[in-house]
Amino acid sequence: MSDNSLRVVWVYPDLLSTYGDQGNVLVVERRARQRGLDVARLDVRSDQPIPTSGDIYLIGGGEDRPQRLAAERLRRDGHLYQAVNNGAIVFAVCAGYQILGHEFVNDLGQREPGLGLLDVTTVRGEGERCVGDVLADIDPRLGLPQLTGFENHQGVTHLGPTARPFANVRLGKGNGTGDGTEGAYNDTVFGTYMHGPVLARNPLIADLLLKLALDVNALPPTDDRWFEALRNERIAAATEPA
Ligand code: GLN
Repeated sequence: MSDNSLRVVWVYPDLLSTYGDQGNVLVVERRARQRGLDVARLDVRSDQPIPTSGDIYLIGGGEDRPQRLAAERLRRDGHLYQAVNNGAIVFAVCAGYQILGHEFVNDLGQREPGLGLLDVTTVRGEGERCVGDVLADIDPRLGLPQLTGFENHQGVTHLGPTARPFANVRLGKGNGTGDGTEGAYNDTVFGTYMHGPVLARNPLIADLLLKLALDVNALPPTDDRWFEALRNERIAAATEPA
Protein backbone atom coordinates (compact mmCIF):
# COMPACT_ATOMS: atom_id res chain seq x y z
CA MET A 1 0.00 0.00 0.00
CA SER A 2 1.37 3.38 -0.96
CA ASP A 3 0.84 6.50 1.23
CA ASN A 4 -1.65 4.58 3.40
CA SER A 5 -4.33 4.37 0.77
CA LEU A 6 -5.43 1.17 -0.85
CA ARG A 7 -5.35 1.52 -4.62
CA VAL A 8 -8.18 -0.35 -6.33
CA VAL A 9 -7.97 -0.45 -10.12
CA TRP A 10 -11.09 -1.17 -12.19
CA VAL A 11 -9.72 -2.38 -15.52
CA TYR A 12 -11.45 -1.27 -18.74
CA PRO A 13 -14.99 -0.41 -17.59
CA ASP A 14 -15.68 0.65 -21.20
CA LEU A 15 -15.13 -2.92 -22.48
CA LEU A 16 -15.52 -5.32 -19.57
CA SER A 17 -18.47 -4.74 -17.29
CA THR A 18 -21.46 -7.00 -17.88
CA TYR A 19 -24.15 -8.14 -15.43
CA GLY A 20 -23.28 -5.50 -12.86
CA ASP A 21 -19.62 -6.53 -12.50
CA GLN A 22 -18.87 -2.91 -11.57
CA GLY A 23 -20.53 -3.77 -8.26
CA ASN A 24 -17.36 -5.70 -7.41
CA VAL A 25 -15.42 -2.43 -7.21
CA LEU A 26 -18.09 -0.84 -5.01
CA VAL A 27 -18.01 -3.78 -2.60
CA VAL A 28 -14.21 -3.80 -2.30
CA GLU A 29 -14.19 -0.03 -1.76
CA ARG A 30 -16.94 -0.15 0.84
CA ARG A 31 -15.51 -3.04 2.82
CA ALA A 32 -12.08 -1.40 2.86
CA ARG A 33 -13.56 1.92 4.10
CA GLN A 34 -15.56 0.08 6.78
CA ARG A 35 -12.16 -1.09 8.10
CA GLY A 36 -10.92 2.49 8.27
CA LEU A 37 -8.77 2.30 5.15
CA ASP A 38 -8.39 5.14 2.69
CA VAL A 39 -9.26 3.93 -0.78
CA ALA A 40 -8.10 5.42 -4.05
CA ARG A 41 -10.25 4.01 -6.85
CA LEU A 42 -8.89 4.22 -10.38
CA ASP A 43 -11.20 3.46 -13.29
CA VAL A 44 -8.87 2.83 -16.22
CA ARG A 45 -10.44 2.98 -19.66
CA SER A 46 -8.99 0.90 -22.46
CA ASP A 47 -7.31 3.92 -24.10
CA GLN A 48 -5.38 4.65 -20.91
CA PRO A 49 -2.27 2.95 -19.50
CA ILE A 50 -2.79 0.49 -16.67
CA PRO A 51 -1.04 1.81 -13.54
CA THR A 52 1.52 -0.56 -12.02
CA SER A 53 1.11 0.69 -8.46
CA GLY A 54 -2.36 -0.76 -7.76
CA ASP A 55 -2.99 -3.07 -4.82
CA ILE A 56 -6.11 -4.80 -6.19
CA TYR A 57 -7.10 -5.05 -9.87
CA LEU A 58 -10.68 -5.97 -10.75
CA ILE A 59 -11.71 -7.10 -14.22
CA GLY A 60 -15.25 -7.84 -15.39
CA GLY A 61 -16.91 -9.92 -18.08
CA GLY A 62 -17.74 -8.92 -21.61
CA GLU A 63 -19.14 -9.88 -24.98
CA ASP A 64 -16.82 -11.62 -27.43
CA ARG A 65 -15.71 -8.54 -29.43
CA PRO A 66 -14.92 -6.24 -26.49
CA GLN A 67 -13.16 -9.22 -24.93
CA ARG A 68 -10.80 -9.45 -27.93
CA LEU A 69 -10.15 -5.69 -27.89
CA ALA A 70 -9.45 -5.82 -24.15
CA ALA A 71 -7.00 -8.72 -24.57
CA GLU A 72 -5.16 -6.89 -27.40
CA ARG A 73 -4.87 -3.69 -25.36
CA LEU A 74 -3.83 -5.42 -22.15
CA ARG A 75 -1.12 -7.37 -24.00
CA ARG A 76 0.14 -4.22 -25.70
CA ASP A 77 0.05 -2.28 -22.44
CA GLY A 78 1.96 -4.94 -20.48
CA HIS A 79 1.57 -3.20 -17.13
CA LEU A 80 -0.69 -5.80 -15.56
CA TYR A 81 2.24 -8.26 -15.65
CA GLN A 82 4.38 -5.73 -13.86
CA ALA A 83 1.69 -5.11 -11.27
CA VAL A 84 1.43 -8.86 -10.57
CA ASN A 85 5.23 -9.05 -10.33
CA ASN A 86 5.03 -6.22 -7.79
CA GLY A 87 2.67 -8.40 -5.72
CA ALA A 88 -0.71 -6.97 -6.76
CA ILE A 89 -3.91 -8.99 -6.34
CA VAL A 90 -6.07 -9.60 -9.43
CA PHE A 91 -9.68 -10.75 -9.42
CA ALA A 92 -11.33 -11.32 -12.81
CA VAL A 93 -14.77 -12.44 -13.95
CA CYS A 94 -15.72 -14.48 -17.04
CA ALA A 95 -14.23 -12.71 -20.09
CA GLY A 96 -11.67 -11.16 -17.73
CA TYR A 97 -10.88 -14.63 -16.36
CA GLN A 98 -10.41 -16.03 -19.87
CA ILE A 99 -8.08 -13.12 -20.76
CA LEU A 100 -5.86 -13.92 -17.78
CA GLY A 101 -5.22 -17.41 -19.19
CA HIS A 102 -2.93 -18.53 -22.01
CA GLU A 103 -5.53 -18.20 -24.76
CA PHE A 104 -9.22 -18.19 -25.66
CA VAL A 105 -11.24 -18.26 -28.88
CA ASN A 106 -12.20 -14.77 -30.02
CA ASP A 107 -15.26 -13.42 -31.84
CA LEU A 108 -13.58 -14.19 -35.21
CA GLY A 109 -13.23 -17.86 -34.26
CA GLN A 110 -9.45 -17.48 -33.87
CA ARG A 111 -7.20 -18.42 -30.97
CA GLU A 112 -6.44 -15.21 -29.15
CA PRO A 113 -3.46 -15.06 -26.77
CA GLY A 114 -4.25 -14.07 -23.20
CA LEU A 115 -1.88 -12.72 -20.58
CA GLY A 116 -0.72 -16.07 -19.19
CA LEU A 117 -1.16 -14.86 -15.61
CA LEU A 118 -3.24 -17.95 -14.83
CA ASP A 119 -2.39 -21.45 -16.07
CA VAL A 120 -5.70 -21.95 -17.90
CA THR A 121 -6.75 -22.25 -21.55
CA THR A 122 -10.23 -21.56 -22.88
CA VAL A 123 -11.81 -23.20 -25.93
CA ARG A 124 -15.25 -22.59 -27.40
CA GLY A 125 -17.75 -25.00 -25.89
CA GLU A 126 -19.46 -27.24 -28.45
CA GLY A 127 -22.59 -27.67 -26.34
CA GLU A 128 -25.18 -25.22 -25.12
CA ARG A 129 -24.09 -21.93 -23.60
CA CYS A 130 -23.63 -22.19 -19.82
CA VAL A 131 -26.31 -19.91 -18.40
CA GLY A 132 -27.90 -19.81 -14.98
CA ASP A 133 -27.45 -19.73 -11.25
CA VAL A 134 -24.45 -21.44 -9.70
CA LEU A 135 -23.74 -22.77 -6.23
CA ALA A 136 -20.26 -24.05 -5.53
CA ASP A 137 -17.96 -25.04 -2.69
CA ILE A 138 -14.88 -22.84 -2.64
CA ASP A 139 -11.47 -24.53 -2.20
CA PRO A 140 -11.42 -25.23 1.57
CA ARG A 141 -7.88 -23.82 1.78
CA LEU A 142 -9.42 -20.38 1.27
CA GLY A 143 -11.78 -20.75 4.25
CA LEU A 144 -14.82 -19.19 2.56
CA PRO A 145 -18.52 -20.09 2.61
CA GLN A 146 -20.44 -21.48 -0.34
CA LEU A 147 -20.09 -19.47 -3.54
CA THR A 148 -23.22 -18.15 -5.26
CA GLY A 149 -23.29 -16.49 -8.65
CA PHE A 150 -24.72 -16.32 -12.13
CA GLU A 151 -22.93 -17.62 -15.22
CA ASN A 152 -23.36 -16.86 -18.91
CA HIS A 153 -20.55 -18.07 -21.17
CA GLN A 154 -19.73 -20.19 -24.18
CA GLY A 155 -16.09 -20.66 -23.31
CA VAL A 156 -14.89 -23.86 -21.61
CA THR A 157 -11.81 -23.43 -19.47
CA HIS A 158 -9.20 -26.13 -18.85
CA LEU A 159 -6.81 -25.80 -15.93
CA GLY A 160 -3.08 -26.47 -16.21
CA PRO A 161 -1.00 -27.92 -13.37
CA THR A 162 -0.20 -24.63 -11.63
CA ALA A 163 -3.80 -23.35 -11.47
CA ARG A 164 -5.96 -24.53 -8.58
CA PRO A 165 -9.74 -24.76 -9.05
CA PHE A 166 -11.35 -21.87 -7.18
CA ALA A 167 -14.46 -23.93 -6.40
CA ASN A 168 -16.41 -27.09 -7.21
CA VAL A 169 -19.97 -26.69 -8.45
CA ARG A 170 -23.03 -28.17 -6.79
CA LEU A 171 -25.30 -26.45 -9.28
CA GLY A 172 -24.32 -25.01 -12.64
CA LYS A 173 -21.40 -25.58 -15.00
CA GLY A 174 -18.48 -23.41 -13.86
CA ASN A 175 -15.47 -24.07 -16.10
CA GLY A 176 -17.70 -26.20 -18.34
CA THR A 177 -15.23 -29.08 -18.66
CA GLY A 178 -17.55 -31.56 -16.94
CA ASP A 179 -15.13 -32.07 -14.03
CA GLY A 180 -17.18 -29.79 -11.76
CA THR A 181 -14.48 -27.17 -11.29
CA GLU A 182 -15.30 -23.46 -11.28
CA GLY A 183 -12.73 -20.71 -11.78
CA ALA A 184 -9.04 -20.92 -11.00
CA TYR A 185 -6.45 -19.21 -8.85
CA ASN A 186 -2.81 -19.12 -7.93
CA ASP A 187 -1.33 -17.17 -5.03
CA THR A 188 -2.47 -13.70 -6.07
CA VAL A 189 -4.49 -14.06 -9.27
CA PHE A 190 -8.12 -15.22 -9.22
CA GLY A 191 -10.53 -15.98 -12.03
CA THR A 192 -14.19 -16.98 -11.83
CA TYR A 193 -17.17 -17.33 -14.14
CA MET A 194 -19.42 -15.80 -11.50
CA HIS A 195 -21.29 -12.59 -12.23
CA GLY A 196 -23.87 -11.35 -9.81
CA PRO A 197 -21.93 -9.13 -9.00
CA VAL A 198 -20.03 -11.92 -7.32
CA LEU A 199 -18.53 -9.82 -4.52
CA ALA A 200 -21.96 -8.48 -3.51
CA ARG A 201 -23.23 -12.04 -3.29
CA ASN A 202 -20.05 -13.26 -1.59
CA PRO A 203 -18.52 -10.34 0.33
CA LEU A 204 -16.06 -12.57 2.17
CA ILE A 205 -14.25 -13.00 -1.16
CA ALA A 206 -13.76 -9.21 -1.16
CA ASP A 207 -12.36 -9.55 2.36
CA LEU A 208 -9.97 -12.26 1.16
CA LEU A 209 -8.68 -9.88 -1.52
CA LEU A 210 -8.24 -7.15 1.10
CA LYS A 211 -6.39 -9.50 3.46
CA LEU A 212 -4.05 -10.59 0.69
CA ALA A 213 -3.43 -6.99 -0.38
CA LEU A 214 -2.80 -5.84 3.21
CA ASP A 215 -0.89 -9.03 4.10
CA VAL A 216 -2.96 -9.60 7.24
CA ASN A 217 -4.75 -12.72 8.51
CA ALA A 218 -7.91 -11.04 9.79
CA LEU A 219 -9.97 -7.89 9.40
CA PRO A 220 -12.30 -6.19 11.88
CA PRO A 221 -15.83 -7.66 11.65
CA THR A 222 -18.58 -5.86 9.70
CA ASP A 223 -22.35 -5.90 9.97
CA ASP A 224 -23.22 -8.30 7.14
CA ARG A 225 -26.96 -8.72 7.70
CA TRP A 226 -27.84 -7.12 4.36
CA PHE A 227 -25.34 -9.32 2.51
CA GLU A 228 -26.60 -12.42 4.33
CA ALA A 229 -30.19 -11.65 3.33
CA LEU A 230 -29.10 -11.27 -0.30
CA ARG A 231 -27.06 -14.50 -0.18
CA ASN A 232 -29.93 -16.46 1.32
CA GLU A 233 -32.35 -15.07 -1.25
CA ARG A 234 -30.06 -16.06 -4.13
CA ILE A 235 -29.35 -19.53 -2.68
CA ALA A 236 -33.11 -20.11 -2.21
CA ALA A 237 -33.83 -18.93 -5.76
CA ALA A 238 -31.10 -21.19 -7.16
CA THR A 239 -32.34 -24.27 -5.37
CA GLU A 240 -36.08 -23.66 -5.85
CA PRO A 241 -37.73 -26.44 -7.88
CA ALA A 242 -38.49 -25.19 -11.42
N1 GLN B 1 -17.37 -14.07 -24.27
C1 GLN B 1 -17.08 -15.04 -23.25
C2 GLN B 1 -17.84 -16.36 -23.37
O1 GLN B 1 -18.96 -16.39 -23.85
C3 GLN B 1 -17.29 -14.39 -21.89
C4 GLN B 1 -18.74 -14.04 -21.60
C5 GLN B 1 -18.91 -13.20 -20.35
O2 GLN B 1 -18.01 -12.51 -19.91
N2 GLN B 1 -20.10 -13.24 -19.79
O3 GLN B 1 -17.32 -17.38 -22.99
